[in-house]
Amino acid sequence: MWEQKWVIGNWKMNGRLQNNNALMHRFRILPPVDRVVIGLAAPTVYLLQLHNAMQIVLGNRILTCAQDVSRFAGNGAYTGEVSAEMMADVGVNIVLIGHSERSLYFGEKNEIQRQKMENVLNVGLIPLLCVGESLEEREAGHAQDVIAHQLSILKGLDTKKIVVAYEPVWAIGTGKVATTEQIAEMHTFIYKQILSLCGDDVKIRVLYGGSVNANNAADIFAVPCVDGALVGGASLSYDSFTAIINAAQES
Ligand code: PEP
Repeated sequence: MWEQKWVIGNWKMNGRLQNNNALMHRFRILPPVDRVVIGLAAPTVYLLQLHNAMQIVLGNRILTCAQDVSRFAGNGAYTGEVSAEMMADVGVNIVLIGHSERSLYFGEKNEIQRQKMENVLNVGLIPLLCVGESLEEREAGHAQDVIAHQLSILKGLDTKKIVVAYEPVWAIGTGKVATTEQIAEMHTFIYKQILSLCGDDVKIRVLYGGSVNANNAADIFAVPCVDGALVGGASLSYDSFTAIINAAQES
């Protein structure tokens, strides 16, 4: 898992029982891809459906991913919240934390993300931390400072396995993709930051996210320090998502 490419689809707030079923039926007959870790992040109400459908996949293991988790652990009077324990209970494997849409629409910052990371690790699931700078921050020359600040929540975490998605905010859902030079520079920087925050003995996967599609995936996977992709829009179509998985398999 820590040597393979990871391709994680983020459905965001999309899907209905029937459409999900149709999509998952197709994944169940996806020819085996042995060099790729595949995951799908469904809306919370569909996680159990996803987990159950993916148990009978023939050649591949498709991991169940959650798009978010509560900052509160266990049980309690937190109306509307879903804890990491509940995620584990329904078969979730990976939890996205800190997606830029969470900071944009829900004001989530480092402190909350850190609590979520700890909750996820405490129940034995894998947190996938999303980081990325805005266009203004990049144009002002602050991109690396912003990413360093976001990554600082990794310091002192009780884990030796770190998964980060670098998602420049200006590339998410916009059709604009960072250049391969920009991706290489930032992924190398992220690797260095993780090693200095977490120690040299840490296992690392750094995924790129931001308008990855069937046409650009192969070029992105060829960039040094790119260990996979977090895919939004293109993960809603079986054909485009599997083209990205195949590009990872062949990279
Ligand atoms: C995302 O939601 O994390 C994402 C990268 O979206 P898109 O691929 O649509 O840009």
